[in-house]
Amino acid sequence: MAVTTMHVERREQIFPTLTEAQLERISHYGTRRTVKDGELLFQQGDEGTHFFVVVRGELDVVQPNGDSETLIVRHQPGNFTGETAMLAGRRALATGRVRGDGEVVDIPPAGLRNLVVADAELSEMLMRAFILRRVALINNHFGDAVVVGSRHCARTQAIREFLERNSHPYVYLDVEQDEGARVLVERFQIGPQDIPVLICRGTKILKHPSNEEVAECLGFNAGIACSAVRDVVVVGAGPAGLSAAVYAASEGLDVLVLEGNAPGGQAGYSAKIENYLGFPTGISGQALAGRAFAQAQKFGAEVAIASKVARLDCTTTPYAIELENGHRIRTRNVVIASGAEYRKLDIPERPRFENMGLYYGAMFLDRKVLEGQEVVVVGGGNSAGQAAVYLSGFAAHVHVLVRSGGLADSMSRYLIRRIEDSPRITLRTRTEIVGLSGKTELEGVRWRNGATGETEERPVRHVFCMMGASPCTRWLEGCLALDDKGFVKTGQDLTPQDLASTDWPLTRPPLLLETSRPGIFAVGDVRSGNVKRVASAVGEGSICIQLVHRILSGVSAGA
Ligand SMILES: Cc1cc2nc3c(=O)[nH]c(=O)nc-3n(C[C@H](O)[C@H](O)[C@H](O)COP(=O)(O)OP(=O)(O)OC[C@H]3O[C@@H](n4cnc5c(N)ncnc54)[C@H](O)[C@@H]3O)c2cc1C
Repeated sequence: MAVTTMHVERREQIFPTLTEAQLERISHYGTRRTVKDGELLFQQGDEGTHFFVVVRGELDVVQPNGDSETLIVRHQPGNFTGETAMLAGRRALATGRVRGDGEVVDIPPAGLRNLVVADAELSEMLMRAFILRRVALINNHFGDAVVVGSRHCARTQAIREFLERNSHPYVYLDVEQDEGARVLVERFQIGPQDIPVLICRGTKILKHPSNEEVAECLGFNAGIACSAVRDVVVVGAGPAGLSAAVYAASEGLDVLVLEGNAPGGQAGYSAKIENYLGFPTGISGQALAGRAFAQAQKFGAEVAIASKVARLDCTTTPYAIELENGHRIRTRNVVIASGAEYRKLDIPERPRFENMGLYYGAMFLDRKVLEGQEVVVVGGGNSAGQAAVYLSGFAAHVHVLVRSGGLADSMSRYLIRRIEDSPRITLRTRTEIVGLSGKTELEGVRWRNGATGETEERPVRHVFCMMGASPCTRWLEGCLALDDKGFVKTGQDLTPQDLASTDWPLTRPPLLLETSRPGIFAVGDVRSGNVKRVASAVGEGSICIQLVHRILSGVSAGA
């Protein structure tokens, strides 16, 4: 059994030992070779790391710390290397060194991908171990990233959220609280204006980085080529986009997903999804997204993170998608899964307090910060209801502010019941925020009751805005027919005028989920008439891939 310095549960599942028969099977995907004591099989930061199974001898996986290193795990015969980064072709988070002369099975990335698709038993064992190892690395603060920041800095909070939503392990050091941060500030000559700072692999320092720079430094998109013409490009890695990616990749299509931020979309902000089939006790949106992401990668889908699409060029064939970073990608089909984002508070102080007390999700804020605090949730939909119930578990009191006269028309009954039954939640109907105050962070909130005209000010330091969503369709710029709220029209909803306005060139009408341009589909919350549910987004993502197949095979060319 492997020896690990990490605190882990389910040890047998994280570090399973292969049987002789399994070792024999796995050997077909690579080569058996002898290795020497001290030989480095991979180093932190390497791309395209191979997968190794120990046959004889031992293999240490260590985290380099400047001049020293920390042992993470010592693999024994029958144990294997790897975690989720390996499937994605991302950079290695740690270094692997042989201990004592021995023998390994050496499997290149393509061999590993074949293995997890072809061998169901080994695939299950490997996928479970990879996911649990990533969780253990996060919980034990092992990894290749250190964030030096301040809890009073909005950008620090944003970078931490970005790393957490990407399930990337990191160590956080606060300049006001941690001695370790002060040492790093001196060593790397970091000034207050440089905060936050990301240190990648102990060597590369990024001052005040954007999400794209963080992704680049940590190799989130390593190995993804922009040059090939894809079968299908999916824009957005929420539930709809990830579902499309899983079905496209598992059915042999060459699929690239472009995600502007991190996988999971809106669902990633959900503390607990309780109405998704198959999870009777509920599942957090982050856990669901993490599993879907790993599943997409298992089948070979490529997912580019922090890769925001700026424009769709629908005048060329194949279509072209332009990223904000200037890259241009050609594709035969497009799946628009860019979802929706929360509307923002319409008050002048808003930009000053974003991420400094004003948030658009309740999941990524440290619970300790909220303990014993009065908080406000704005909105009357299911997401607001979930947030209120979740926050009431540890906040002193939750005020739910809605403009309407009640929740019955906008929230599921089970959430309304929980809100009504909780002594720690107060529903304030016909009420809206009219002022925010504070020096650097939010310190007070003023709201007004529209029915009585009364205003009230409370010492609230945290407001969560979940006020209904607008579609993310700006990047489509006149390419497609949209409805009057900007959602993408598809299938039978498209009128002859819609089709004429975009010069629909075929004799056949648009397919289900197809937009007013052939081979461009819209799924999930971005689609006109969508039902704002994870299950329907996932369903639409899978259905549209069947239709992409029909188009690629010429069945629905209809020219
Ligand atoms: C807090 C919360 C709780 C919820 N709880 C539930 C629940 O319990 N049950 C339920 O059924 N539903 C729930 N929902 C609704 C559910 O999450 C959504 O219906 C679902 O996420 C829609 O999926 P989607 O993939 O269509 O879009 P989204 O989830 O919105 O994902 C769209 C993705 O596209 C990306 N994107 C946008 N523009 C671009 C661009 N230009 N370039 C690249 N990427 C882009 C975004 O970053 C995002 O990741 C909840 C929503 C929220 C916010």
